[in-house]
Amino acid sequence: MTKWVYSFGGGKAEGRADMKNLLGGKGANLAEMSNLGVPVPPGFTISTEVCTYYYGNGETYPETLKHEVLAALGRVEEIIGLKFGSTADPLLVSVRSGARASMPGMMDTILNLGLNDLSVEGLAKRSGDPRFAYDSYRRFIQMYSNVVLGIDHHNFEEILDEAKDDKGVSQDTDLTADDLKKVVAKYKDKVKEQQQGKPFPQDVHEQLWGAVGAVFGSWMNQRAITYRRLHDIPAEWGTAVNIQSMVFGNMGADCSTGVCFTRNPSTGDNEFYGEFLVNAQGEDVVAGIRTPQQLTLAGKNAQSSDLPAMEECMPEVFKELNAIRHKLEAHYKDMQDMEFTVQQNRLWMLQTRTGKRTTKAALKIAVDMAREGLITRKEAIKRIDPASLDQLLHPTLDPKAPRTMLGRGLPASPGAASGKVVFSAEDAEDWVKNRKERVILVRIETSPEDIGGMHVSEGILTTRGGMTSHAAVVARGMGTPCVAGAGEIRVDYAAKTIKVAGKVVGEGDVITLDGSTGEVFIGAVATIQPELTGDFGTLMEWVDTIRTLKVRANAETPLDAATARKFGAEGIGLCRTEHMFFDPKRIIAMREMILAETEKGRRTALAKLLPYQRQDFIELFEIMQGLPVTIRLLDPPLHEFLPHSEEEIAEVAKEAGVDPSMVKARNAALHESNPMLGHRGCRLGITYPEIYEMQARAIFEAAVHVSRDTGRTVVPEIMIPLVGAKKELDLLKTSIDKEAETVFAEQQYSVKYMVGTMIELPRAALLAGEIAQTGEFFSFGTNDLTQTTFGMSRDDSGPFIEVYRAKGIYEHDPFASLDQPGVGELIKIAAERGRATRPGLKLGICGEHGGDPASIHFCQGAGLDYVSCSPYRVPIARLAAAQAALGGSSSSGTA
Ligand code: PEP
Ligand code: MG
Repeated sequence: MTKWVYSFGGGKAEGRADMKNLLGGKGANLAEMSNLGVPVPPGFTISTEVCTYYYGNGETYPETLKHEVLAALGRVEEIIGLKFGSTADPLLVSVRSGARASMPGMMDTILNLGLNDLSVEGLAKRSGDPRFAYDSYRRFIQMYSNVVLGIDHHNFEEILDEAKDDKGVSQDTDLTADDLKKVVAKYKDKVKEQQQGKPFPQDVHEQLWGAVGAVFGSWMNQRAITYRRLHDIPAEWGTAVNIQSMVFGNMGADCSTGVCFTRNPSTGDNEFYGEFLVNAQGEDVVAGIRTPQQLTLAGKNAQSSDLPAMEECMPEVFKELNAIRHKLEAHYKDMQDMEFTVQQNRLWMLQTRTGKRTTKAALKIAVDMAREGLITRKEAIKRIDPASLDQLLHPTLDPKAPRTMLGRGLPASPGAASGKVVFSAEDAEDWVKNRKERVILVRIETSPEDIGGMHVSEGILTTRGGMTSHAAVVARGMGTPCVAGAGEIRVDYAAKTIKVAGKVVGEGDVITLDGSTGEVFIGAVATIQPELTGDFGTLMEWVDTIRTLKVRANAETPLDAATARKFGAEGIGLCRTEHMFFDPKRIIAMREMILAETEKGRRTALAKLLPYQRQDFIELFEIMQGLPVTIRLLDPPLHEFLPHSEEEIAEVAKEAGVDPSMVKARNAALHESNPMLGHRGCRLGITYPEIYEMQARAIFEAAVHVSRDTGRTVVPEIMIPLVGAKKELDLLKTSIDKEAETVFAEQQYSVKYMVGTMIELPRAALLAGEIAQTGEFFSFGTNDLTQTTFGMSRDDSGPFIEVYRAKGIYEHDPFASLDQPGVGELIKIAAERGRATRPGLKLGICGEHGGDPASIHFCQGAGLDYVSCSPYRVPIARLAAAQAALGGSSSSGTA
């Protein structure tokens, strides 16, 4: 025969923590605490199987349920020494729902069930406090009537307000027992009126079954259905019902209630941490109406509190609570968040669950617990959310600081920053250099010529573009906070204002960006500096012993490369060479090269770029000290580099020694309607071979220089972008090999090198078998691969992707977290076909997904050798890679 009801309390229980499916989370933990001998108010759980039965059988209960409930109630009465429905010694109970997964959308709790016109008198006598008894009764009538009978709260609130008005008082606490007696009578009249003459139930069993029915009924209410849909919780799971004897923390000076943590949840220190209120109910602590007292003397001193600590005023109870703290933490092997009530000097535990904590505390607790031998190092690694490390790597907003919201965009590059608003990159540079100001650069969107201004700015705000827009990618690379695509904000360059919903901010006004949330605030909001504590370093050391995926960084500048090394990068996975020409001096030569009409013109401009390029590579090779460096040859979507203003055109014309009208004409001729799919990537190398020749020369000369100088091995990995056909790669590799031969002969010194390709087009993925005949390594450029697979512009998709997500078409932005069913499938195909041709083919990923934990999980499964991400994401990627190596499922992905 199926058992439907499971008792707990009195030092034992019929359930256990691992019976969550049957008893729900709350019921299983209450049972577990009872088994551990922790004092839990006795009670019982009606299993989730009853819920399933209820809905499967026309909303009826199993035949034996009533009998089991009565028996369980009898056990509770015996343990606690009170009787349900008794006039003299009434047992009161709470009724709560409790599903397998926590479901905030479910029914509210019903407290004090079992009170009626007679038992309220018993409670008054037992507590010696009639006011308390009648206050409990009126609260019960309101709660029950609302949850079970569906009568709106306002009906009761009006009566209570009237009672206060009649007496001329403003607080509930100013009402006496007699006042509350009258309120109770009026409440009951109201119930009768609302229920067409049916009175409030006086039969306590009718009350109980009404509440049980309401819990099961709430499983199918709209809130719960929506919550389940959003969190993938199947309706078949059902909810359990927990019925538990009431204990009161508000029955006098020897009563109290509080919350506590087994360790400090904000610092992670192994110290008992908590607060309590004497003579109060649970909600009073949370509601913050009264100032709570500290549990420990240390806590009291730390807070400079005048109120006595529990350690002083209730020493016996404190000792018992502290012992339970140790017991529960040792048992659950994690920091616990507990609720307790003390009734007439007797301690009762109401709840225990895994406590929420800051990232700093999470690291400390995990490392300490591993050192204490409570958990293994592997478990410690699994406990940290990789994305949360961001909090430690960038300044963050002080949570206590006041703030005024201006608008919101995408959280494009984490960290918080304040500064004066400027609207152009030149102004940013001017204000910082000459006026010594801190600035926030505000642009509709950024382009390569803004790079200098972006570099000196504290933060960057754009109103257009997505997570892989120029501003977002460059800002992440620099570690500069950035909010991108804040569409609701209007930028007026002429008036030098930003406007949103009636608020106007002008040039020189201070704003604050939170690049971790995408929020923009008016004025300066205080920030907290990052602190790389010892625990962080320790955990990272452990992480590196576990992971099998290597972690590289996307970096071009010496600063980025040095940052990447500091964060533990094991090489550069993507050096975007076009980014090396953003500097104002270089961009002119770069434009001259792009705009040149003849090979000769291009070669003249390229000769100017060569020394810069060579010097950049020398610095990169030196910083990376023999670690692999993947250099991608030019891949400039032309629109990013063409001059716009008359001034820029004049500059290029002067440099090239031609008339500005010629530059204009060439500019117009090069205009493309779809530059992302235009004359970019290796197409440029195919049409103008001299460009890649110059770059190959710079790489080989630099490699020879550093190798000869330092005696270290330097193995450049030369990478060709946007390849779609093997023949493209054949042609380009031949010319690179030729350049290598020439340089090595000139220098009488040679180095090893590899030539590989990015996989950024579906065609390349499908033809990977052929391409791998020439390509010596693959790196998945998942920004473009996502763009080309979805046929969706990486710069324009932000706004509609949000709508798609809201409508549940895609769960995630595919430019932020890899689309595993689509783009991921192409990666798997390419990996398999590539390695079939060239066993051991080195595979990496260098799109933005290389720093996303769920995507890293995927890369582990797909057999990649490394991930490459922006320097500030390197620690996140290292941790995510270790977690991926330890197994388990990843929760993200587009579909
Ligand atoms: C990519 O497409 O994923 C990539 C890394 O190249 P880029 O972002 O420079 O186009
Ligand atoms: Mg690309």
